[in-house]
Amino acid sequence: MTATKLPFAASSDVGDLIACPTCDALLHERPVAVGETARCPRCHTVIEAPRALAMTRIIMLALSALILMVAAIFFPFLELEAAGMIRRSSLLDTVMAYSGGLTEPLTIVMAALIVVLPTTRFLGLLYVLAPMAFGWHPARHAAPVFRFVELLRPWAMAEVFVVGVAVALVKVGGLAHISLGPAFWAFVALVIVTVLKDNFMSRVTVWKTLDARRRS
Ligand SMILES: [Zn+2]
Repeated sequence: MTATKLPFAASSDVGDLIACPTCDALLHERPVAVGETARCPRCHTVIEAPRALAMTRIIMLALSALILMVAAIFFPFLELEAAGMIRRSSLLDTVMAYSGGLTEPLTIVMAALIVVLPTTRFLGLLYVLAPMAFGWHPARHAAPVFRFVELLRPWAMAEVFVVGVAVALVKVGGLAHISLGPAFWAFVALVIVTVLKDNFMSRVTVWKTLDARRRS
């Protein structure tokens, strides 16, 4: 793996400038070879790191995430046992527990943050990246779709939910016997896959590929 540093921008040309996502330094964009890692010269954030088959890997991870999401929604999530009574609940039950009355908006927000937004992100990514992995022209409106996917990133909070569940389990642990269902583990796997996928994906590479394919 070779490391490279992108040069700081001079004042004259604006066409090929990119900003470091961490420290906002203005840098000159230039072609980065596969296997190379381009970093910000000021804060050393990785700006671009094209890897062979990266697109295919991201697509595989997004697909796995979608399948795990389906498992996480429909399989039993938790099983509570207290005084001989057993209660199983799925993620769907958990979200629906707040439906009706004043907590109705909570149901909508919860369903959106835990299920709808992450699913939308995975589908959007597949839509944008699949044609590129096969070397085809970008899908229609691929650029706005990718911008939207990036916009959703901070709002897809599956991992926050897992931490919340873990905290709740510790609290309830003394009161009832709890066993974790397959959906819980599917959800944990989903979070790990999402983190891997986000690490693999170089935004600059995706934008550059979109741009190049649109022109070809
Ligand atoms: Zn920087």
